[in-house]
Amino acid sequence: MRKFLIAGNWKMNGGEQFTFDLLSVIKNQKPAISEDIDVLVCPSFVSLSIAIDQLHKSDVLVGAQNIHEAEKGAYTGEISASMLVEAGCSYVLLGHSERRAYYHEDDALVHKKLQTALRNELAPVVCVGELLDERKENRHFEVVKAQTLATFEGLTYEQAVQVVVAYEPVWAIGTGETASPEQAQEMHAFIRSILAEQFGDAANAIRIIYGGSMKPANAQELLSQPDVDGGLIGGASLDAKSFVSIIEIAESLTNSVREIDSPTTLEED
Ligand code: PEP
Repeated sequence: MRKFLIAGNWKMNGGEQFTFDLLSVIKNQKPAISEDIDVLVCPSFVSLSIAIDQLHKSDVLVGAQNIHEAEKGAYTGEISASMLVEAGCSYVLLGHSERRAYYHEDDALVHKKLQTALRNELAPVVCVGELLDERKENRHFEVVKAQTLATFEGLTYEQAVQVVVAYEPVWAIGTGETASPEQAQEMHAFIRSILAEQFGDAANAIRIIYGGSMKPANAQELLSQPDVDGGLIGGASLDAKSFVSIIEIAESLTNSVREIDSPTTLEED
C-alpha cells in the first residue's frame, strides 16, 4: 500500500518564532500521527533547525524547499543537499511552479537537482503541472507527460520509488480554485501510466500527491481518489487547525478506501 504523504509547503512565510508557534500548536492538537501516513513540513531554510529540534521526537518529518544541483562550491547564497541532510532534513521540494516561473528552473535543471538529492538520500518531491492556458488549449497531458518523463529519465527502479510526484496544476496554486477530484484522478492515473511504461508494476509504488488549494473542505474528496496519494499544501498548511484537519482526514481514509496492492518488485519479475 502506498502511504499517504501530507506535506506543508510554507514557502517564504515564517521565521523562527512563527515556526516554533505553529509547530507547538500542531503538536498540541495532534500529539500522535498514525504510522499509516507520512506528515512533512517544509519551512524556510533559516527555520529548519528550530523545526528539526522541535520535531525530533515526533512523527512529523522536515524537508527543505530547494537545493543547489552541485554538491558544494562557489555558489554564493546557495544551500547543498548534504547540508540539509546533516541538519536533519529527509525530503526536498523540487521544481515547484514558483521556482520554474520566477527562477527559470527548467526540466533539465530540476532533473540535475533530483539526481543530487537522490545521491544524498534526500527524498525529492518533484512538482509538475500545467498552466491555465495550457489546460485551456487542451495541452495539459502533453505538458505533464514531458515534465514527468524529464523527471524520471534514466532513473533505476530503486531511485524511482524514492521520488514523490506532486501534481500541481498551476492555475490552482494559491488561487482558491481546486482541480475537481475527477480532474485530479484523471491526471494522476495518466502520470502513473507514464511511469508504468518505464518501470512496469513498480509504478504502483510511486506516490503521486495533489497540490493546489487543498483545504479541509475539499481534502476528503481529493484524497479518496485511488491515485491521489496525499497532498502538497501551501496556504492551509500555515494554519494549524486546517493542516491537522487534513492529516486527520488522511488518517481516516487509510483504512476505508485505500486498498492498493503492493507493487511487484523487480526481484519477483
Ligand atoms: C503549493 O504552493 O505547493 C500549493 C499547493 O499552494 P496552495 O495550497 O496555497 O494552493
